[in-house]
Amino acid sequence: MGQKGVTVWFTGLSGAGKTTISEQVAKKLKEQGYKIEVLDGDIVRTNLTKGLGFSKEDRDTNIRRIGFVADLLTRNDVIVIVSAISPYRGVREEVKEKIGNFVEVFVNAPLSVCEDRDVKGLYKKARSGEIKMFTGVSDPYEPPTSPEIECRTDLEELDESINKVFASLQELGYLSEPVTV
Ligand code: ADP
Repeated sequence: MGQKGVTVWFTGLSGAGKTTISEQVAKKLKEQGYKIEVLDGDIVRTNLTKGLGFSKEDRDTNIRRIGFVADLLTRNDVIVIVSAISPYRGVREEVKEKIGNFVEVFVNAPLSVCEDRDVKGLYKKARSGEIKMFTGVSDPYEPPTSPEIECRTDLEELDESINKVFASLQELGYLSEPVTV
């Protein structure tokens, strides 16, 4: 179908909704016949970037490796969906410049909301000190300054967030026809 490659990069705090939104976006695009690939931070850390920790250096290496794979796929006309906290602005910008066809999605909910959700029970562990260097609690998160899309998951319904992503991809010329949930 003459598909154009792009990396759709979801960044945000743990529990903000990156996986939830990106899974639905991926599912729908796949159903529509698009060639897609998903690189989820949690999964990537068990293989591609296994052994890396959570220092700034290791987090940046994690993102550079994800970016490297995303770039290869994007060049081969795949829609690549990346879901990773990616807390540092500098390396996100670096990866964005390298890939070019790059759409940044800031999945944004206040820390208090993410913490109340505590999907994986990690905030509790971070507060008790069981987990160190936890983004938002004991490690920095640098929000994007000009993301293509911002999903306020504390204020929007999930479908609204998903449709924002589709609308933007359509507007930027990556979808041949409108897609909605
Ligand atoms: P992350 O991948 O960013 O760590 P998850 O997707 O695992 O976050 O968890 C986000 C949680 O927030 C899920 O339990 C999801 O059901 C909930 N949620 C509530 N509203 C939204 C929304 N508008 N978009 C995405 N997730 C939402």
